[in-house]
Amino acid sequence: MKKIFITIYLILLLSLFFVAYGLFPMTNELFETQTLAYTRQIAKGTFSLVSDRLVYLDDAGRQQALSELQTRFGYPLGLVPMASFPVDPEDREGLMNGLIMDEDDEGYILFQRLGRTDMVLTMGGPFPGSTFFFYGRLFLWGGCILFMVFPALAWTLILNRDMKRIEQAGSRFVAGNLDARVQVPRFSSLAQIASVFNTMAERSKQLLASQKDLTNSVSHEIRTPLSRIQFSLEMVAAWDRLPDREKKYIARIGRDADEIEALVDEMLTYARFEGRQDLGARLQKNDLVSWLGAVAAAERPAGQIDLEFRNRMETCAVVTRFDPVHLGRAFQNLIRNGTRYAASRVRVTLSPGRSGVLVHIDDDGPGIPDEHRCKIFDPFYRMDDSRNRDSGGYGLGLAIVKQIVVWHGGAVSVNDSPLGGARFTVRLNLT
Ligand code: ADP
Repeated sequence: MKKIFITIYLILLLSLFFVAYGLFPMTNELFETQTLAYTRQIAKGTFSLVSDRLVYLDDAGRQQALSELQTRFGYPLGLVPMASFPVDPEDREGLMNGLIMDEDDEGYILFQRLGRTDMVLTMGGPFPGSTFFFYGRLFLWGGCILFMVFPALAWTLILNRDMKRIEQAGSRFVAGNLDARVQVPRFSSLAQIASVFNTMAERSKQLLASQKDLTNSVSHEIRTPLSRIQFSLEMVAAWDRLPDREKKYIARIGRDADEIEALVDEMLTYARFEGRQDLGARLQKNDLVSWLGAVAAAERPAGQIDLEFRNRMETCAVVTRFDPVHLGRAFQNLIRNGTRYAASRVRVTLSPGRSGVLVHIDDDGPGIPDEHRCKIFDPFYRMDDSRNRDSGGYGLGLAIVKQIVVWHGGAVSVNDSPLGGARFTVRLNLT
């Protein structure tokens, strides 16, 4: 907000500066002839009265009369021989013809040839008010610098309010609320952006819905023939007279059919979690410490992998609202991955975070290389095949984890673990 304010404030001041020192002089320049004609009209009477007093006198008389007249004038009068009076070549003709001319080199002066003589009568430079103009300008600029704070501030506040609305709607949308839309006044300068955002959000929602529908219906459609295949395979496998070689093929087809079934189940699960909003009714107040301890204990592997749960919170109970079924599934996925890839140790740690709690799932396995970290939570994303051959997964486990954690208003990330392998961190807010 500070940056926007400073930008707007400087733009306003620079615009004023440009108007005062760019546009005004430019206007004077453009309308020079009209301005001079106007000045001539105003000064005509004064010049003619003074000239009448001086023109028929000799030099000494003129100086004497000029001194007397000077006492009645508020600005300097002068009488200069034409030969020593500096005048622009383009003004010389006008001067010779008796026109009132002006010059603004060292203070503004007006001058006219004195009758048909070779003397020039000058008035001005400095006119009264020159000092006033200086202080007036100082006051004006001081006022502008101070006063411009208010329009700049008002503009900033309005802009900031609308930008915040767009930003908040964007964050809600990214967090899974596909109905998040921006409401800004019709006359806001960001109304166009807000409207584009809303159209984009609506379009994305429709696309996601149709994608979800497609996944659901294809998965359901596959299930029926798949069950028939599995049933037929069981029938054939139960046939005593089947030669061994055929039995082997039948068993292999059976395994493949089971794999397809697992994939379909996983896809249906993912589709169920995608873009889901009705979490409110599922939230329950629970003690996170004992609950997480129980989830970890239930996942304790039978082999040589050592699974440890540590509570680093200051209290031994942290009561907050979450959906135990689905969040349980998320932690299950993370712990199962940990035990699958660990060499010997998996550690689940609950610790205080900046605005909630952090749950680290550490292992001492091969870890996740940097280049995979930003994609690892995408659906169907798996790393090298050699690692996945035995996992039996389809790259949906972490995508499901992310959906569930995001529903809870949290975030999940992956890093290096102090144990040497991967560290998955789930950040949850306490509500
Ligand atoms: P899958 O269901 O196929 O296991 P996931 O979404 O759970 O898919 O994981 C995606 C990929 O991330 C896996 O294929 C695996 O290569 C990698 N991965 C997940 N967890 C770990 C871990 N703890 N250590 C190393 N690699 C992991």
